Amino acid sequence: TSWDDTAARMMAAIEQVIARKAPGGEPEHYDYLVVGAGFAGAVMAERLAADGGKRVLVIDRRPHIAGNAYDVEDAAGLLIHQYGPHIFHTNSGEVFDYLSRFTAWRPYEHRVLAEVRGQQVPIPINRTTLNALFDAELTSDEEAAAFLAARAEPVEQVRTSADVVISAVGQELYKLFFRGYTRKQWGLDPSELDKAVTARVPTRTNTDDRYFTDTYQAMPAAGYTAMFAAMLDHPNITVRTGVDFAEVRDSVSYDQLVYTGPIDEYFDHCHGKLPYRSLRFEHRTLDEEQHQPVAVVNYPDELVPYTRVTEYKHLTGQSGPVTSVTFEYPADAGDPYYPIPRPENQALFKRYEALALAEPNVVFVGRLATYRYYNMDQVVGQALATYRRLKARDEASLLA
Ligand code: FAD
Repeated sequence: TSWDDTAARMMAAIEQVIARKAPGGEPEHYDYLVVGAGFAGAVMAERLAADGGKRVLVIDRRPHIAGNAYDVEDAAGLLIHQYGPHIFHTNSGEVFDYLSRFTAWRPYEHRVLAEVRGQQVPIPINRTTLNALFDAELTSDEEAAAFLAARAEPVEQVRTSADVVISAVGQELYKLFFRGYTRKQWGLDPSELDKAVTARVPTRTNTDDRYFTDTYQAMPAAGYTAMFAAMLDHPNITVRTGVDFAEVRDSVSYDQLVYTGPIDEYFDHCHGKLPYRSLRFEHRTLDEEQHQPVAVVNYPDELVPYTRVTEYKHLTGQSGPVTSVTFEYPADAGDPYYPIPRPENQALFKRYEALALAEPNVVFVGRLATYRYYNMDQVVGQALATYRRLKARDEASLLA
């Protein structure tokens, strides 16, 4: 089928899911209220409804489903990712099989280039990167390993992110690829970030230029939003977008709550705000057929204000005379995207987690409720495991 057919079917399915109302009208009672229609909320709702036979109301305060994975056709008819590029990859057969019930896949292996010294070279650093930057003419893994080893600068005690990288690849590569990017991304120098943030620098001595090496790498064939629409398309599920938990907390009747929003917000920030780093996305359509050779080009140079540029045609396989791209600008304020990895923030989260554990009839799932940076597959895995726990608990209480 053509892209237009797929898109039309996808929009129809989404509207149908969002428009569905319970037959008896309000007021109604739900077994579960699910706050958030991202991966965590959608997986929980699907399992509770389809496997558990529960009646579920899913709300999201954004005007759409799919959380941060939301994709949408722009004015040029190109599918773009509203909240930055989302590339699906996993080693979990369970997660891949589960999602495959709701989408077909487009085979896709992610490749990223970094623009340094006026050249676009593969990242993670591989033999091609070294040859391009240093005219090194390295022809084997051994030669590349020896080249990196000669540049590595042992650090007596590895404490910070900077130490991790410098001790692996040396100052020059650290400055070229890592220092500026990190300063822009986090607003912090790598020497101020704990070594755990960069436990390992993925450098390669071969010429494998794939960004990920996971077993399963693919994009949902009709996009993420269409996949979410299929997940939520169940007679036991009602979806309402543009609805904040605060608005319905006391008016909707439900037995149990699945909360996938920010944990500090749930507790009215009683211990203070959990810090996040944010991003500003600038979506543009350019009057050229192709803008860059791969989906993502990184800009580690601190003089360039954005961190990376994504061109969506590479992800979707769409074609046409114009192309849509997104520039990403790191920001202090805005939507919560990246938990800031510092020990005092983790300690603050633990105080909220203690409150969460004592909260009856509520489960906290997903990246915002657990204050962790998770990839999509990890959130799906976390939600599937949470559902299994709830089910076992319910079965045990029925037997009791
Ligand atoms: P979310 O998707 O954030 O969903 C939570 C939802 O809850 C939101 O829609 C929010 O509006 C809603 N909500 C919150 N509070 C309330 C409330 N009070 N009332 C109503 N609704 C509420 N992962 C990958 O695997 N590959 C990638 O390439 C990748 N790229 C990423 C790029 C960026 C820029 C970012 C920030 C993340 C990326 N991720 C990627 C991670 C991915 O976005 C997350 O794993 C995923 O979105 C987590 O799903 P979630 O349901 O936990 O959270």
